[in-house]
Amino acid sequence: MADSTDLQAQSPELLDERDSLNSFRDEFYIPQNGAVGASNDLPADQPCTYMCGNSLGLLSKLSESLVQGELRVWATRGVVGHFSHPYGREWVEFGEKLSPLLAPIVGAHSNEVISMSTLTANLHLMMNAFYKPTKERFKILCEARAFPSDRYAFHSQASAHGFDPKEAVVAMSPREGEHILREEDILDIIAKEGSSIAVICFSGVQYYTGQLFDMQRITHAGKHAGCIVGWDLAHAIGNVPLSLHDWGVDWAVWCTYKYLNSGAGGIGGLFVHSKWDNIKKPDYAGWWGQQLSTRFQMPEDFTPIPGAWGYQQSNPSCLTLASLLGSLEIFQSAGGVQATRKKSVLLTGYLDGLLRQSNFYCAPEGPSFTIITPSDPFRRGAQLSLLFSSLGTMQKVFDGLTNAGVICDERQPDVIRLSPVPLYNTFVDVKRAVDVLEAVMGSL
Ligand SMILES: *Cc1c(COP(=O)(O)O)cnc(C)c1O
Repeated sequence: MADSTDLQAQSPELLDERDSLNSFRDEFYIPQNGAVGASNDLPADQPCTYMCGNSLGLLSKLSESLVQGELRVWATRGVVGHFSHPYGREWVEFGEKLSPLLAPIVGAHSNEVISMSTLTANLHLMMNAFYKPTKERFKILCEARAFPSDRYAFHSQASAHGFDPKEAVVAMSPREGEHILREEDILDIIAKEGSSIAVICFSGVQYYTGQLFDMQRITHAGKHAGCIVGWDLAHAIGNVPLSLHDWGVDWAVWCTYKYLNSGAGGIGGLFVHSKWDNIKKPDYAGWWGQQLSTRFQMPEDFTPIPGAWGYQQSNPSCLTLASLLGSLEIFQSAGGVQATRKKSVLLTGYLDGLLRQSNFYCAPEGPSFTIITPSDPFRRGAQLSLLFSSLGTMQKVFDGLTNAGVICDERQPDVIRLSPVPLYNTFVDVKRAVDVLEAVMGSL
């Protein structure tokens, strides 16, 4: 495929034809105009231009049939499905069975990752396990613009451990007049205040700006300063390749309904590095962390499975696991996240290039927008965040896009996020989204 520098000059149809992942679009349901709030002028039964996989990934046909399969097993076998399952997915170890497929997506060993619970709950679980503040080392280093749930979690963790969040939570903001946190500033704080920092937790990809952090570098700096380093991978998993094990990350948490397409409220997951296996045991035990051989014998004492699997607490939902399984199998047949990332760099580069050619990009007067996501492909994932000039412009543009069947998401007061997803978006989608944006802004 062509170099991303001259993609804009090429026909999007031709780019789609040359795209080796193009056929995967047919594996997904693309919502239709008639159901997503588009105007009646558009054919109701035609697929919309879905650019919102950063918020909720689409349903694959495989996930649909796997979920239906689980419903049938439940209907026909009831409780017996835990131990005898026509498709070999006995519920007693369904979660563990997903780990070999999940592991390559985050760059981990199978026993370092497990699908369980939900993101914020897992964040608390990891904080409870790894945030052991002392009088000298008690701070939590994070982003001021972290996803609200993460901010609430860090504040409540500090309080629950008897610290004043105003002192204990060190929340970094971009420099005055900038949108992106500079990595040098993060490294600088770690170097200066590292001895008082207990836990460092940033997002791998920032939900608002789309910035991709240099996770390896920040992890190394944090470990060098004696801190625990955890990552929130909500917007990174399934979006960019990760190497959690090799980077020496202590723990990580994620949800799977964004780029991993498991459906709204789908099952979350976590990573605990194997270096901890012989050092600590799960502090908050539940029966699902018990050794597989004795889980259903319910022994008096808790003997956890070594590694991340031992952190499980509850019997996970077979429906959400089945849905995630479909997605993981699709990633595998597409050649893994390395292959999807390759296309993603081109697709997002194409979007970026077209947007920068727009008459409204940084226009000196009238309605205009800029892109706050880093322009360097190595510093971003699939998402671009557009910042609109005057207040009120964003809402009008967003409504205009929706009306024209371009589904994206808005962040009040002035940001729209667009995410072309390599597994189901096309170059034609991207071209259309930008054409519609031009037309809508031209009509303001
Ligand atoms: C999407 C997202 C969440 C959502 O948390 P849930 O517990 O799954 O509702 C939390 N944090 C970040 C960074 C996110 O992007």
